[in-house]
Amino acid sequence: MIPDTPILSQQYRALLELLPEQHHEYPNIFNHFRRQEAGQAGEDYLAYYLDQAQVPSLTCIKRLRLEHHSSFQLDWLVLGLGIRVIFEVKSHTGEIYFDPKSHQLTRIINNIKEGFDDPILQVDRQYANLRSFFTAHNIAQLPTYRFAVFVNPNAILRLHDYPEYQRVLTSQRVPSILEDLANKHPPTISEEANQKIEQFLLDNHRERGVSILEKHAILWDDLHKGLPCPFCNKRPMKRERMRWQCAFCGTRCTDAHHKLLYQIALLSNNRVTKQLASQFLCMKSPDAARKLIVRAGFIKEGANKNAIYKHPELIPFIKSVQ
Ligand SMILES: [Zn+2]
Repeated sequence: MIPDTPILSQQYRALLELLPEQHHEYPNIFNHFRRQEAGQAGEDYLAYYLDQAQVPSLTCIKRLRLEHHSSFQLDWLVLGLGIRVIFEVKSHTGEIYFDPKSHQLTRIINNIKEGFDDPILQVDRQYANLRSFFTAHNIAQLPTYRFAVFVNPNAILRLHDYPEYQRVLTSQRVPSILEDLANKHPPTISEEANQKIEQFLLDNHRERGVSILEKHAILWDDLHKGLPCPFCNKRPMKRERMRWQCAFCGTRCTDAHHKLLYQIALLSNNRVTKQLASQFLCMKSPDAARKLIVRAGFIKEGANKNAIYKHPELIPFIKSVQ
């Protein structure tokens, strides 16, 4: 299964909400988050053009990440009955130059020059990994085409004498490229076989798991405590007679803690404890916090003092603690 929003992106969003803006790591977290969001927006944007291709029985998988020797991620993998296509999506704007000698891409925007890796080398490396994954799992190989797609309409591609210019596209060209390739390669596997391959790949998707607090050297103590009011956003709401009460605007609600518990699950690699929850909910009794965790549908693992609680929606994606 592949989550609609990558877990890493959800982790950054949760961290941005819980980290005080004056924390020294805040700008860095913000940049990470923005980059993630831009990348995803680009990948999502291509869906429209993939959909336009008049080719029957095409299956498109977004953000498939596999682990085989090492890990690799394919922005889009298109599975046809006679071909396969990998698209590496780039959302850069500005003027982009390809240098065939250095295999580097230079972007000039507002007179500032910036270098990037050659996306064709990137997508060819992904193909080498995918090929070896298919061989290891006895999946039939099909002719597999690889492209880099620049999805931002404000990107100006300067390909000059770049030898791979035919494999660098704008998103508008994607439907016709898929149609041409499908015409050239008639089906060699059945629709049923293709669906099986799709399911096998989805079952083998491994979400990138990061211990995000450790990665950025952020302590639990650094984060905001207290449940924010869903109406006025001030902290903390108080627990009174089985409900949450805002002392500032008077809002009352019953399940405002669900979001915060989910955020703690994201930041703890899905290992919530009653102590952690009671701290964040500003509840004096860890046992009262435990009751809220259990009633919110978390799944208990381990016994008594060492018990941890896992959010069921995150279990398929966060497998182990790194
Ligand atoms: Zn309020």
